[in-house]
Amino acid sequence: MAVANEHQKIAVIAGAGPAGLTAALELLRRSDIKPVVIEMDGQVGGISRTVNYRGNRMDIGGHRFFSKSDWVMRWWQDILPVAEEQDTAGNPLKITYQRQSRDLLPSRRAPSSADAVMLIRQRLSRIFYRRRFFDYPLKLNASTVRNMGLLETLRIGLSYGQAQFSHRLPEISLEDFFVNRFGDRLYRTFFKDYTEKVWGVRCQEISAEWGAQRIKGLSVAKALAHAVARPFRSGEETSQKATETSLIERFLYPKFGPGQMWETVAQQVADQGGDIHLRHRVVGVERQGQDIKAIDVLDLATGSSRRIPCDFFVSTMPVSELTPMLKPEDGDVIRIANHLPYRDFMTVGLLLKNMHGLRHSGSSSANNGMPPDNWIYIQEPDVKIGRLQIFNNWSPALVADPKTIWLGLEYFCKAGDELWSLSDDRFIDFAAGELEKIGMIQRSAVMDGTVVRVPKAYPAYFGEYSEFGAVRDYLEGFSNLYPIGRNGMHRYNNQDHSMLAANAAVSAMLKGGQGKSDIWQINAEEDYHEEIEAVA
Ligand SMILES: Cc1cc2nc3c(=O)[nH]c(=O)nc-3n(C[C@H](O)[C@H](O)[C@H](O)COP(=O)(O)OP(=O)(O)OC[C@H]3O[C@@H](n4cnc5c(N)ncnc54)[C@H](O)[C@@H]3O)c2cc1C
Repeated sequence: MAVANEHQKIAVIAGAGPAGLTAALELLRRSDIKPVVIEMDGQVGGISRTVNYRGNRMDIGGHRFFSKSDWVMRWWQDILPVAEEQDTAGNPLKITYQRQSRDLLPSRRAPSSADAVMLIRQRLSRIFYRRRFFDYPLKLNASTVRNMGLLETLRIGLSYGQAQFSHRLPEISLEDFFVNRFGDRLYRTFFKDYTEKVWGVRCQEISAEWGAQRIKGLSVAKALAHAVARPFRSGEETSQKATETSLIERFLYPKFGPGQMWETVAQQVADQGGDIHLRHRVVGVERQGQDIKAIDVLDLATGSSRRIPCDFFVSTMPVSELTPMLKPEDGDVIRIANHLPYRDFMTVGLLLKNMHGLRHSGSSSANNGMPPDNWIYIQEPDVKIGRLQIFNNWSPALVADPKTIWLGLEYFCKAGDELWSLSDDRFIDFAAGELEKIGMIQRSAVMDGTVVRVPKAYPAYFGEYSEFGAVRDYLEGFSNLYPIGRNGMHRYNNQDHSMLAANAAVSAMLKGGQGKSDIWQINAEEDYHEEIEAVA
């Protein structure tokens, strides 16, 4: 490990995900503090990494690059500019996400032939239910009525009407929240199974308050009004321009997946004098009172450990892992930290010759039967798969042979449960079997497969989380400790939130700790999240 000169201050950073790498690069840009990044994985990017399997690249979850923050938008484009040809038809560069449209603010552009670029992608994702495709967001149109059947559509309408007259009061659970807004029938059809698959908890056990905070802006009334008004709108209003701000989503996406962003950042960190140690794990924290003095690091390749003295400690590792290392005197703090809930995640990368099953449903325009979607929400109750990514449609560069179809089959699970514990071969077989069962593929078309397990992919807001304030206050009490990022703050962050927290942490470090508690304000009010919108 390289050592800083005698007078140079050291910031040890646990984790080379978006939060840790942003902090490292910002420290190098704005100070002479040396970042020493410790990453237990063999590659950088954290959950936003790209896994390269025999030349086929997997994005864990499908990462859209969009931020309300100008700072983040510029930061990303400074690392990877947008490819020139992406400015289609002379339109101003706008991207849209979760019904919010914004200018791209390009700082520079790159030739379309370049590799170090971001693409502008247009989102298509649909819901697969009853072995049929439904529009996402759900629309009240002829195709929905045809898919549901007239009788079922009427039942849903009646149940919705009923819910408007007799609300479940008091509204205690997430089930109450859904039923009051959508009616019992629609809740059971499109919301219940998916939410329970994602969180592994029954909707009756999730608080209504959580729904109100996380699932805003979804209204059947709005969808109905939109559908009814549509035939009366002028051509101008129904043009792409008019719909852009509401429904058509465009986002940025690195040509080789999200990991390309973070690999490029890591290279800049190394070039500018920062250290990044892969396959090294933070295993201990040495403190004197409220000051962190040194970090214990284990080299996972050799099994040897060493102590790194530091002036600052930036932690993006899970709060549940960091807190016991600090040896809190208060037993409650340890109890809460130890019981913070998480949801884990597995993705099967499946390489296919074709997807014959879908041809019959008229859902594919490609010769090999590949659907046009970026991803598909699987709402079928007889399978465990939650979402299906079609990596070809995120970026063709993710796929080694363009004639093949490269899929990501996503499962929400709990580390150690039945799914998680299956051997890779058995899991690939199981996952392929599920796609065959719902008529999407024939098993004989499978050419290859791989499994990626992501522990603690989702910091959850149940159980002990209601007491999280005590842990946060405890961590806040350390003069030179900066917990940031998704698991670092136990916050349901997107990349941009993790980056904003990192930037705020660097600012506070440079101001002697002033503004440190502001870091917790980032993403405190957010209402959009990648998975929960799935139930819209
Ligand atoms: C399915 C899914 C879809 C998503 N979609 C989007 C999206 O569309 N857009 C978006 O912006 N975001 C999306 N996200 C969120 C995004 O992945 C995260 O917000 C982002 O990766 C968080 O960055 P981070 O640095 O805070 O944490 P992480 O990415 O979790 O990085 C933390 C790093 O710390 C390392 N680490 C942990 N403990 C230790 C230790 N003891 N010692 C050393 N290293 C350690 C880990 O190995 C990891 O590399 C999605 C997430 C999921 C799960």
